Parts: sequence; structure tokens; C-alpha cells
Amino acid sequence: MKGGLSIRLRLSLWYSGVLLAGLALFGLILWISVRQSLMTSLDETLDQRIRGAITVFEEETRQGSTAATIREELGEYADSIPEGRLLKVTGPDGQRVFPLESVPPLPRHGYRFRRKTDYVAGRRYEFYAAGSLDGVENLMGSLRWLMLWTAPLTLLAASLGGYWISRRALAPVDALTTAARTIGIGNLSSRLAVPATGDELERLAATWNQMLERLESAVHRLTQFTADASHELRTPIALMRTSAEIALRRPRTAEDYRESLQQIMDEAERTSRLVDDLLTLSRADAGRAQLSIERLDLVPLVSEVCEQGRMLASSRGLEIDVDLPGRPVEVEGNAPALRRLLFILLDNALKYTQPGGNITVSVSGSGPVTVSVSDTGVGIAADVLPHVFERFFRADPSRQRDAGGSGLGLSIAKWIAERHHATIDAESAVKQGSTFHVRFPGSNC
Ligand code: ADP
Repeated sequence: MKGGLSIRLRLSLWYSGVLLAGLALFGLILWISVRQSLMTSLDETLDQRIRGAITVFEEETRQGSTAATIREELGEYADSIPEGRLLKVTGPDGQRVFPLESVPPLPRHGYRFRRKTDYVAGRRYEFYAAGSLDGVENLMGSLRWLMLWTAPLTLLAASLGGYWISRRALAPVDALTTAARTIGIGNLSSRLAVPATGDELERLAATWNQMLERLESAVHRLTQFTADASHELRTPIALMRTSAEIALRRPRTAEDYRESLQQIMDEAERTSRLVDDLLTLSRADAGRAQLSIERLDLVPLVSEVCEQGRMLASSRGLEIDVDLPGRPVEVEGNAPALRRLLFILLDNALKYTQPGGNITVSVSGSGPVTVSVSDTGVGIAADVLPHVFERFFRADPSRQRDAGGSGLGLSIAKWIAERHHATIDAESAVKQGSTFHVRFPGSNC
């Protein structure tokens, strides 16, 4: 693998390093404390030997023995104990008491020395004992040998074990990687197997799957949108082409040509509105449609849009009533976007209401700020009502194409409302009319 060691190897190396340091520290402490306790016990043995010599010395002095007898008794005592000949006793002026003959000094290395002062019959004597360190060194040697052999073996075994364990622990990660590699845009519906371990790996796999789900639905929406958009564009283009073909089939009067051209122009206008709507929605999807938000008064904005709508309304034999409060109703918003939203609702009300019907636009500033558009039109059946905000949705496609709807208006309205943190909803009863409410967050107080 490029770019460094695998987690497995790094874990094992760290583990071995820590273990090595631990073993070294443990070995050092063990070494020092064993040596210390061996020395202490050797010192005790030597002290014991000295105490024995003192007892003999005091006993003989108490009995009034001569110096030669004392020496003899000490000699016997020395012969009865190990390393007894390393005992030494000196008198008050440092003169030799035992042994009489001088002995060459012992090398300082390899021996342990002890000394004790004792007063016998008011005179000061020094008692010396020495012990070979051979026993201690032998034991320490064995301990060293043991440690030098077992430490690397332990380290090796533990490192191999650690590597094996981390390999086992990380195997599911490899499995996830392999599985994730096979997932592409073509098979976004496949999911990773989630190990039921209740640990980080289960969460990782589950999170991956959630992400795949989101991606899948986003891709699905996109493909659906593209397919619907192409389908929508095909119809008007085919109509324009047919109109032109028919007009060109044989020579016609100027009136006929005008009529054909008018048809083509109507379709072209419809198509360009559709393309505008598609652009708006795809910009919104890409998150590129920035709306600059400012504090604005809804009252003049609503009356302006209604004024525009009135011209359309009168041409269709409809009335628009406007019910506005007498004071400003302020919201945080983007004026052109809100105008567009309102126009979509008003345009729908005009499209789906029979001549003679009534349309009411109202703004309520008490409580949550709400803009409502009601009509006395065809209404929307309860089963399709939840779908009216979906893209390309039309309650009755055959009839409504004539009214000029592409089914994108309410999706755009919903998007604009969402960008204002507002909600949009509809109430409707078939043949009685519909009311759309846009509710802004907060209140106008
Ligand atoms: P369109 O461009 O077709 O009007 P919209 O997204 O604006 O698309 O509306 C979606 C569908 O909701 C419409 O086709 C229509 O069936 C229904 N609809 C919207 N507004 C009204 C209304 N005021 N009265 C009745 N039906 C409506």
C-alpha cells in the first residue's frame, strides 16, 4: 500500500515497543531487588558469624581463659562454620587477636565485608567477617541468563500475537474497503454488510449505508428530473415542428401562416417558461441560487403582485380581492423571490378557477406572518393534495396542459418558501376551491 505502513503493522510496532520498554523496566527492577535481597541475606549470615565469634570470645574471657585458649576456641568455632577462616578479631590497639598470623588482605572485589565493635572486660575489640560473593554472582548470572532468553521470546510471541489480533480486529475494515470498491453509480442500491458487533465497525458500515442511501435517492431524483425535463421539452418541440411542417406542406394564405406562426410562438413561450423553471430548480439543487435576504414589508409587495394579476384576472372574467392589514408586516426575505412565489400561487388560482369565480389574497400580521391565496376553483382531490408540491406533478395532465402548467410552479414556490424558513401548505375541496398558506417564522410583533 502506498504512503506508509498499514494500521495493522503500526499497531503491532507500537505494541511491541511498549512491551519492550515494560519488559526492560520490569527486568531492571527485578534485577536490583533480587541483588539487594541476596546482599541483605549475605550480610545477615556474616553478622550471625560475627555474633557467634563474640559469644565464644565473651564466654572464654568470662571464664578467665588465656589469650592462647581464646584463640584456640575461636579457631574451633571458625572451623565449624563455612568461611570461618575469614573471621578476624583485633584488639584495642589494632593488634591481631585472631588469627595470630597475618593473612594477606582479600581482594575488595568478589567479597562482602562486615565489622562489629564489642567491649569485653572494658576493652574494645573489632570483629570482622568476610563472605564470598560467588553465590550471589552465580544466582545473578542465572537470573540474567533467564531474562535474556525469556524476554526476546516473550516479545516475539507477544508481537506475533498482537499482529494476529490486530489483523483479526481490522479484517472487517478490509472487507468494507473491498465491498465499497465495488459500489459505483450503476449499483448504488447495493449495501455493505453490517457486522452485528455493536462497535465502531458496525457504526462505520451503518453510516456508509446511510450515506449510500442518501446518494442513491439524490441520484434517483436527478435522473428522474432529467427524464421528466426531457419528456416535458419533447412535447412542445414536437408541436412546433408539426405546426411548421403542416404550414409548409403547401402554399397558404397569409392568415393561415399567421395562425401557424402564432401557434409556434405560443409553444415557444411555454417552452421558454419551462426552461426558465428548469434552470431555477437545477440552480436550487446545485445550491448556487443565492438569495440576498433583507427586512421587507409584505404589504406593498403583495398589493403590487395582485395589481399585475388583476389584468390577467379580468381577461379571464375573474375577480381578485385583496385583504391587507393597515400596518406594515415585515419579514426577512428576498423581494423578487417572494414576488415570484406569490405570482405562482396567484397564477394557479387564476388557471384553475372558472370564469365568474373569486380569488382572495390576504396577509395576516397577527401571530405568525401568513400570506394566503384562496380561490373558488376546481379544487384538488384529497388523494393528490400531498403531491402538488412535487416536480412535474399535475392533478389532471390532459386538461391542464392547455392551461399552460408544467407542474414545476409549486416546486419552485416550495423551494422559495424553504429558503425563507417558511412553510407552504394547501387546503382544498373538489369543486369548492383551494387555499394556499405561506407561513413565515416568528411573528410580526
Ligand atoms: P402547474 O404549472 O401545472 O400549475 P404547479 O406545480 O403550479 O404546476 O401545480 C401542480 C398541480 O397542482 C397543478 O397541475 C394543479 O393540478 C394543482 N393545483 C395547483 N394550484 C391549484 C389550485 N389553485 N386549484 C386547483 N389545483 C391546483
